[in-house]
Amino acid sequence: VPELPEVETVRDGLSRFVLNRPIIAVQARHPRAIRRQLAGAEDFAAALRGTSFAAARRRGKYLWLPLDADRSGARSLVAHLGMSGQLLVQPRDTQDEKHLHVRIEFADGGPELRFVDQRTFGGLMIDELVASGDGPDAVPAQVSHIARDPLDPLFDDDRFVRRTRLRHTEVKRALLDQTLISGIGNIYADESLWRARLNGARITDSLTRPVLRSLLAAVREVLTESLRQGGTSFDSLYVNVNGQGGYFERDLAVYGREGRPCPRCGRAIVRTSFMNRSSFHCPRCQRPPRLVDSVLPQ
Ligand SMILES: [Zn+2]
Repeated sequence: VPELPEVETVRDGLSRFVLNRPIIAVQARHPRAIRRQLAGAEDFAAALRGTSFAAARRRGKYLWLPLDADRSGARSLVAHLGMSGQLLVQPRDTQDEKHLHVRIEFADGGPELRFVDQRTFGGLMIDELVASGDGPDAVPAQVSHIARDPLDPLFDDDRFVRRTRLRHTEVKRALLDQTLISGIGNIYADESLWRARLNGARITDSLTRPVLRSLLAAVREVLTESLRQGGTSFDSLYVNVNGQGGYFERDLAVYGREGRPCPRCGRAIVRTSFMNRSSFHCPRCQRPPRLVDSVLPQ
């Protein structure tokens, strides 16, 4: 499943290769890829033909391309990458991929945008843009409930700290709550909590503002490093989301390292189950909450 760093790599690539190029033809070769488009394939193609992409935007793992407002009003092409979706920018003479579902061709005859998805959980659709509610920008209606991610220049640290402290829930659960903060998956949550020396079972309303601020700083470090090393570099015209985490295993401090020494203190990393998934932490650096503070017993 693509995580924020991989989606940001794609967004960055799209912003360089597909903006402001009038669209001349749209081919939806697989109905499942546009199944969210209720009016169907012809409606999908008609919305795109003759317009162009004005920008490439992202919020957490959601990616969209607002259409040129002069011609299309406040609408956007939204991409759901699902488990295995890829957006590729390919020269026109490149052979079709086996799982090519949607082809978008440009009037300039240059490289085309392709949506390829082996497992067809992903898809494309046209959506209206609405006011974001937490900033001056507009977002697709279906994305409006998703909070900004911490790499977004408009992310409001004070607002995050305030809203998190109003909750009574485990801090790891809060990090994974996309209405509070987006773009943090299970791996990034564990790595960030370790860096901040915070146990994920600690309860949000028992945490001080400085503790939450240092957690936010840790999250930014982890995401930024992952982005920098991100498995996928953006060479030439190739835009790729391959479903692999941007983090290489050698860079992980705790995730997937049960029984191995904590890189900071040497204590064996512990695996627990949380929200039906594996969680990893150092029992010395990340002390569990006192029972009275926890929602669930340790
Ligand atoms: Zn440790």
